[in-house]
Amino acid sequence: MSGFTWREGQLTCDGTPVAEIAGATGTPVYIYSAALVREALAALGAAFEGYPHAIHYALKANSTLAVLRLLRDLGTGADANSGGEIEAALRAGFDPARLHEIHGSIHHLQCLSPCGGAIWDAAGEDAEVDESTMRARRIPRCPTCGGVARPNVLMFGDLGWIPDRSAAQRARFAGFLEDVRDARLAVVELGAGTAIASIRMLSESLGARGAGVVRINPREEGIGPPHVGIAAGALEGLRAIDAALSAG
Ligand SMILES: [Zn+2]
Repeated sequence: MSGFTWREGQLTCDGTPVAEIAGATGTPVYIYSAALVREALAALGAAFEGYPHAIHYALKANSTLAVLRLLRDLGTGADANSGGEIEAALRAGFDPARLHEIHGSIHHLQCLSPCGGAIWDAAGEDAEVDESTMRARRIPRCPTCGGVARPNVLMFGDLGWIPDRSAAQRARFAGFLEDVRDARLAVVELGAGTAIASIRMLSESLGARGAGVVRINPREEGIGPPHVGIAAGALEGLRAIDAALSAG
C-alpha cells in the first residue's frame, strides 16, 4: 500500500493511518511517503536506463533529514549549494569525499593568525550570542596558540585563509572530471551571477573542454556560442526546457 490512500474512511500513508502518525507526533506534522519516493526514483532511473548516469537529489527542494537518509540509502548523490545544505547532507551521511565547496566551509575553523595549517570541525563550538548586546558570549579559540579562531571561509583579500581542505576537494573534483573525460557532458548552470563569478568560470572552463553549457539566469544569461543562455529564473528555465523536450 504505497502513497496516500483512503482505507475504510481513513487517510493512510504507506498503509499507516495519518491520524495515528499525528497522534504520535502531535500537529502540525509533515508526512512523506517513502514508497512514493522509491517509486519516483525508480522511474527516473528507468528513464535513463542504457545511459551512464548518476542521480543527485537537490537539497533546496527539501532538506529534511529523514528524506535525505532515505535517498542516501537508495544510492543517490546530493546536490548541496550552501553551507546549510552541505551540513544537512553530511549529517544525513552523504560521502564527504564527494564534496566540492568553492570558498571553504563555515562549519570548519582555523586559527586567525594562522599559527599553523590546522583546520578543525566547528561542530563542538557554540558561539552563543547575547541578544541584548549582539555579542558572542565566547569566542572560539585556536587549540594550538590560544588565539582567536575563524571560519575556514575565503574572504576578499584574505591572505590568512588556509586553502588545504578546499585544495583536497578541488583535486578530487579534478579526478572526477578525469574519470568522465570521454563522456559527453552537459552543464546546467542556475543563477550563478557575475559579482563572484567562480561558478560561471567553472562552467565556462568545462565548456572550453567540450561540455555543452546551458546558463539560466534572469539578468546575466550571456555566454558565447556554441553554449546557450536562457534569460529566466531557475525553475522557469528548467520548466521551459522540459516543455521543449516533451514537445519533441
Ligand atoms: Zn593558532
